Amino acid sequence: MTDTPSSESASPEILPPPGAEKIRCDACPVLCYIADGRTGACDRYANRHGELVRLDPLTIIKAGTDKLVPFLPEGAGGPDDWDGDVLGNGRTFVTAIGAGTTYPDYKPAPFIISQPLGGEDMVTVVTEGIFSYCGAKVKIDTDRHIGPERAFVRVAGEPIGHVTTGEYGSKMLSLGGVEHLTGGTKKEGRVTCEALLSLCNREPVEMSVDDGAELVITAGEAPIVNGVTEARMRVGCGSATIGMFAMQWHGLVDEVVVVDDHITGVLSEHQSGRLLGMEPSGIRIKGRRSTPGRYFQVADPGTDWGGTNVTDPLSILGPFDPRRARPGMTLLMVSTTGEQWAYFVLDEGLVPQPAPLPGPLHAVVERIAENCEPAVASVLFMGGAGGSLRAGVTQNPIALTRSVRDALTRVTCGGAPAYLWPGGGITFMVDVMDMPTNAFGSVPTPALVAPIEFTMSAADYAALGGHVDEVRDMADVIREAEAKGLRTVPNGTSRSASKRGKAA
Ligand code: SF4
Repeated sequence: MTDTPSSESASPEILPPPGAEKIRCDACPVLCYIADGRTGACDRYANRHGELVRLDPLTIIKAGTDKLVPFLPEGAGGPDDWDGDVLGNGRTFVTAIGAGTTYPDYKPAPFIISQPLGGEDMVTVVTEGIFSYCGAKVKIDTDRHIGPERAFVRVAGEPIGHVTTGEYGSKMLSLGGVEHLTGGTKKEGRVTCEALLSLCNREPVEMSVDDGAELVITAGEAPIVNGVTEARMRVGCGSATIGMFAMQWHGLVDEVVVVDDHITGVLSEHQSGRLLGMEPSGIRIKGRRSTPGRYFQVADPGTDWGGTNVTDPLSILGPFDPRRARPGMTLLMVSTTGEQWAYFVLDEGLVPQPAPLPGPLHAVVERIAENCEPAVASVLFMGGAGGSLRAGVTQNPIALTRSVRDALTRVTCGGAPAYLWPGGGITFMVDVMDMPTNAFGSVPTPALVAPIEFTMSAADYAALGGHVDEVRDMADVIREAEAKGLRTVPNGTSRSASKRGKAA
């Protein structure tokens, strides 16, 4: 069991009423007593006529799509030639989804499976880890201001995380984590756990940011900011947009301003304009000049032009310099997504007057929009498997950490490749869109339940002190699972699989 303190005596233990015929689930520290025909507190386990059963079927990824590379290239000599792909063409992979959990941690993982490969035996250790230390990193493709960095993100009024450092064209949330799961009130922990579970299972979650926006986030779908479905991820910052389209504007207009919350670009001053021989236009931008043609802080953050609060683009301009500007000069102002634009001609007083956008310029504005990618919300589950979960794999847990670090053991989550953080422990991230649907569960400690698999050669498994007596043949495991109900997911299709239904 991963990182679930064994001292959770304050966990919500479910006790049987006096005299009731119940069995005890020992798959997590809650240790529910479950009556016949009923489920435990997490709905993952049930009492079926006195037998404790895991309710979700074991999920198996059926390989064989022609998109896949062979598990080992033709003529490869065994695991030494292994490229780390645990699925591979023609290979069936037993994921940990529906595998169940063992508790306490020293018990061997639910399935330790051998499978011949390239003339060698490989072993996959399969378990559903219970993660008290886990969370989600959420990338929201939008320019719009969702709230200040470090602001709390709330669900049902409870803080479940915060806005973290923004990235290029995207806002970022850091959600969950042990502080919100265990360090606040009981309600905060429960709400955090439920929100993480929904996000990781690709269900929509409504959240609000302190002093910021109302969000609806669904993994793999367009984010909804203040009730508006975001359509486009910006093509770049204002300066980058100038750099990309300067050639196409040249000769069609005297000045272009690309309005952006971070770096607003001005064509005639920008290096692109200079290299094209453009004359200074005498434009004056309100804001802090960084380098030529690049301005910071032209307005406050907002949900209008380029992620600013600008609704009238002229509001970011000062008076034109009469030494440079001239009547009849043309000016295009556009946002970084091409969603907003305005065209002006300077009158006799050098004041910009709105004018119809000429067709050729319109085509370039449309090209900005064309170059924007669809806005998507991405959810990466992040967890730490460096704790007690390792004892289900080996009697010497540090040996598993070293084996993972030495790339002898491959870590996957529901068959999806996990990114491993450098440094100590087994701290990993995985894109929930790469995993089969409904891969996550939860327990009321509260903690998330996530599938995790460790794959290595049988020799390496023995060398790291693995539970070799528990190793079972793949066919045997599948036979047993089929008898109980098996969910089969085609490989390579989890991204396109039905998002809401089971992919079986
Ligand atoms: S919460 Fe779920 S896993 Fe934990 S003891 Fe109860 S039924 Fe078993």
